[in-house]
Formats: sequence, C-alpha cells, structure tokens
Amino acid sequence: MPAEASFEGPEGSRVLEGKCGCGTVRFRVADEFLYAQNCHCSQCRAATGSAFKPFAGIEREKLEVTDGAGSLLVFGEEDLNDTRCATCGSLLFSVVRDGAYVHVALGSLVDAPSLRPTGHIFVGSKAPWFEITDDLPQFGEYAS
Ligand SMILES: [Zn+2]
Ligand SMILES: [Zn+2]
Repeated sequence: MPAEASFEGPEGSRVLEGKCGCGTVRFRVADEFLYAQNCHCSQCRAATGSAFKPFAGIEREKLEVTDGAGSLLVFGEEDLNDTRCATCGSLLFSVVRDGAYVHVALGSLVDAPSLRPTGHIFVGSKAPWFEITDDLPQFGEYAS
C-alpha cells in the first residue's frame, strides 16, 4: 500500500480519509467495507446530481467525523439520512439500516478503498441517457 495515503488503525488495519469539497468536514473510515455498489436509483441520482452513486457500506462505528462535526447537514432522521457538509453541500455518507451502517459516497474519499464497486444496482430506474459500459453484474433492484 502507498505509504503517503495510509494510516494504521488500532488493529493495524488501514484507515481511509474523506472530506467535503470545501474541507470543513473531514472523516476517517476503516478500509473494511463490507460491500460496494453503483446505485442507479432515482434518489441516489438526485442526491448526487449524477448518473449513479458509487458507495460502500460499513458498520457505522467504523466511521469517525474528525473535523467539522458541528457543520453537518443531516437530511432525514438520526438513523436514516444523507449527511452532507452544511457549507458546501457535498454528500459524504448516508446512515442506513436503522442506524447500524453507513453508505459512504465513494467520491468523498481522498484515499482509494480496497473494495471497489462490484455491480450496478437499481438498474431498473437507471437514467435513460446513461449507458453502462463495464462488465460488472447488473441488478434491477438490490443485488441478489
Ligand atoms: Zn464542505
Ligand atoms: Zn440508490
């Protein structure tokens, strides 16, 4: 692993850095993602203003906001939300599954995660103007 982009966590595991566009909010997350997907659902497209959202899921306690915790814009509930920087609006992560997990928007990571998206989900609601050109498996809704 490249030394300039990695930190050692308590158990010797790698820790990834993430931040918003303006740098007010910074977070660290263990490089231990359980799953990663490209989601094409209408909600992810609207939240990112993009064709799809690459994200990766991990237990919530493995993500720590290290800077700007008072500058978070939480859209939704405590245990089900999109968390953004209140200053620049960057989407950072979403709290999901009754608050037990977070889905990190991979574009907010400074460091590259070991786990890359393994497929495309909610292809049934994909933007008609966007064509998937890779060979990753596609799912109409959730990955099976
Ligand atoms: Zn910001
Ligand atoms: Zn989605």
